[in-house]
Amino acid sequence: MDAPIIKSFRIGGTSRDSAVGSSAVITSINPADGSIAGTVTRATAQDVDDAVAVAWDAFRNKPWRKLRPDQRATTLYEIGRRLLLERESLARLQMQDSGKPMKECLHMVDAAAGHFRYYAAVCETWQNEMTSPRGEYFSMALAEPFGVVACITPWNSPIMNEAQKAAPALAAGNAVLIKPSEETPQLALELVRICYEAGLPEGLITALPGYGEDVGAAMVKHPGVRMVSFTGGTDTGRAIGAIAGQRLIPVGLELGGKSPHIVFEDADIDRAVAGVMSGIFGSAGQSCVAGSRLFVQKSIYKRFMESLVEKTRSLCVGLPDDPGVQMGPLVSKAHRDKVAGYVDIGRQEGGKILVGGDRPTDPRLQNGCFYMPTIIDGLTNRARVCQEEIFGPVLVALPFEDEADVIEQGNDTAFGLAAGMWTGDYARAWRVARELEAGSVWINTYKQSHIATPFGGFKDSGIGREKGLHGLRLYSQVKSVYFGTHEKPMGL
Ligand code: NAD
Repeated sequence: MDAPIIKSFRIGGTSRDSAVGSSAVITSINPADGSIAGTVTRATAQDVDDAVAVAWDAFRNKPWRKLRPDQRATTLYEIGRRLLLERESLARLQMQDSGKPMKECLHMVDAAAGHFRYYAAVCETWQNEMTSPRGEYFSMALAEPFGVVACITPWNSPIMNEAQKAAPALAAGNAVLIKPSEETPQLALELVRICYEAGLPEGLITALPGYGEDVGAAMVKHPGVRMVSFTGGTDTGRAIGAIAGQRLIPVGLELGGKSPHIVFEDADIDRAVAGVMSGIFGSAGQSCVAGSRLFVQKSIYKRFMESLVEKTRSLCVGLPDDPGVQMGPLVSKAHRDKVAGYVDIGRQEGGKILVGGDRPTDPRLQNGCFYMPTIIDGLTNRARVCQEEIFGPVLVALPFEDEADVIEQGNDTAFGLAAGMWTGDYARAWRVARELEAGSVWINTYKQSHIATPFGGFKDSGIGREKGLHGLRLYSQVKSVYFGTHEKPMGL
């Protein structure tokens, strides 16, 4: 049998390899069938030290930070173009690493390329601020890079998440370290390869595949890391935020959610049913913005739920490379068991399983980490399954009386990432949108994402905003510069 290929990472142009059979590897398992998706060299805390030193050297000495932004844009455009040239193969690798349907993986690569193109365009058009003089001087506020920034990402949207951080961080002139999730370590290595093939000077981006508690923690604590951008669970984000607080370095935290998805009695029912399904069952519910708490107005509750349950029953759960598939597996067996555990908790709390609540019976799916789309009702919003993030294809449905009731219940959560609503009354939509405590609100649509529209959370869902011009600001610090224009020497 051929020895497995172990993908190495590189620090400053030098490969870091692991011997075959060494424990210093991470093996990524394809959650669709349990096969090996790939093996990568596992980074260590020592690699973090080395990568930080290389990144500072590149930041100080390589032509990047001092390039004009429009010159940096040329390389960023080229990275976007090259990502699209490899669209199919990157999407396939992502599908094997994460189990997401191929259609979604193609979208992830498109989005990654879009981030590089967008921030290239921002570089071309960015304006610093100049203030009108109030004396014999003029002053301006400049966006400056931090130096070396660490970007730590989760497993649910590899390559898109990494690009969402790396593109603005590089655009702002920083050197970037990426710590991808140990579940999906391969795409970050490909992104780094493409960055260098596109002409990025060596050392400005390094991906270190490793575990959170050693490599991730070492990055956050490293005195050479001046800013941390993290996407992941709220508990991890809180721990990272505490260290950053001690170190007095800025953080961007994109964390978990338990988003309310609201259907008013005047909604277009068919569209709302489709929107609710796509909001929770897309990506098998492994989406931070999943609309996992459904609120349906009492007057239409029965009718709406019958239609929703019937359509959910006919969803196509299957292998991710099947073009007709609507829902693939969860990312790992451990995660599938965690999701199943939450459904059991829902049962114990007195919830009624309207559909799903188990693994599929299809013999072709038995080696994978599949779980059927599940809807639970009969609980109150205080139930654990209504308050804790499940991050799987599990929807909890609750009836509500009126606008005031649904605003109160919708906001009755520690999270504040997103919310959605379906209604024919735009005045009501506006009123409710303003009252919901969420970083993004969707009206008569759900889970749309615009590259130029800021994204982030209220409350325990995070700090800071990514995407759009806010994304560039996140990776920049402001420097004020004053120019004297005195005709005479300054007096006391
Ligand atoms: P996670 O918090 O377990 O891990 C995220 C990353 O942090 C991984 O790379 C992990 O290795 C690393 N990490 C773990 N412990 C660390 C530590 N002590 N120090 C530094 N790094 C550490 O999250 P996950 O299970 O990979 O992802 C799922 C979570 O991500 C969900 O809660 C989901 O809502 C959230 N998420 C949020 C967004 C958003 O934009 N708000 C987007 C996607 C996912």
